Amino acid sequence: MSTVKLTIDGKVAEVSSELTVLQAARSIGIDIPALCYDETLEIFGACRMCIVEIEGSNKLQTSCSTLVKNGMIVHTETDRIKSTRKDIVQMLLDSHPNDCLTCQKSGECLLQDYAYRYDANFRNHHGAMRPQLMDTSSPYILRDNSKCILCGKCVLTCYQVSDRQVLSFSERGYDTKVVFGADQTIEESPCVSCNRCVAVCPVGALVDKRQLGKIRNWDGNTTVVMCKACEYGCEFEVYSRNKENIAVTAKAPSNGRPLCLKGRLATELKYLENPDKPYIKINERFEETTWDKALGITELIEKINRLEKDNKEEEE
Ligand code: SF4
Ligand code: SF4
Ligand code: SF4
Repeated sequence: MSTVKLTIDGKVAEVSSELTVLQAARSIGIDIPALCYDETLEIFGACRMCIVEIEGSNKLQTSCSTLVKNGMIVHTETDRIKSTRKDIVQMLLDSHPNDCLTCQKSGECLLQDYAYRYDANFRNHHGAMRPQLMDTSSPYILRDNSKCILCGKCVLTCYQVSDRQVLSFSERGYDTKVVFGADQTIEESPCVSCNRCVAVCPVGALVDKRQLGKIRNWDGNTTVVMCKACEYGCEFEVYSRNKENIAVTAKAPSNGRPLCLKGRLATELKYLENPDKPYIKINERFEETTWDKALGITELIEKINRLEKDNKEEEE
């Protein structure tokens, strides 16, 4: 593996020639903002927040899709960059509901963070607003498309698991939106409620409905636990306050860890005193069910009961 030397904001970095400028900057502690970049996903290059100036080029370059080169001199936070980033955030806020006070993602929302960092604000205007398209059909996911910033992370992460691939972009231009299945509700679509998409969404467009109104991620303690239900060992976050476990949510998946509903429910059952009732889809409709059915262990329990009964009868 060859390495290159470049200078980012006056700091010299010696990194692999396979890294992008954004990855090189982050490896030496320089935080280039990005809404659509995620190290576990394909480069999408949609949000343009990660633009940088590279000496010798007049154009601003997206650092997530520009490979490092020997001798490169990069600036990540000049006045020109800050002003362009402010415009990007302002455009997003202009078609976004002013809902931070009650939004589940407030406090950990990247749009909110960058609005603060670049001094962009909600403002009155007569231009277009994204329509309110709330989907409440799932007991596991609340979708509010009016908050979607079209970063594409949900589409890419759902696509990584071959038997899912539920999400896609639909329409064009300003009307572009992310759809479940063939533009169906979450309930009607083939979504399996793994919540991968929820875990990577940087804003409040996709939130965990079982956590809603109970606790925000920063408002207590978070413990990462590993699911033992199968060999993948996916990770979940348990949120607690005053020593009481309040909610369990899927942790953003790393490569090869698919996440699934059974694992999530098993983790809730293990860590929560009073988990909400479990639901499963039957004929494309969510129905409340029992824990043994939701976890797929009804047959195992019946078998254990039968074996115990047989053993007792033999002893008598
Ligand atoms: S998604 Fe972010 S910016 Fe939008 S309402 Fe929620 S916290 Fe505020
Ligand atoms: S919950 Fe899972 S299957 Fe459903 S859309 Fe999100 S990532 Fe895809
Ligand atoms: S729903 Fe969330 S993750 Fe998906 S494109 Fe919109 S903002 Fe991005």
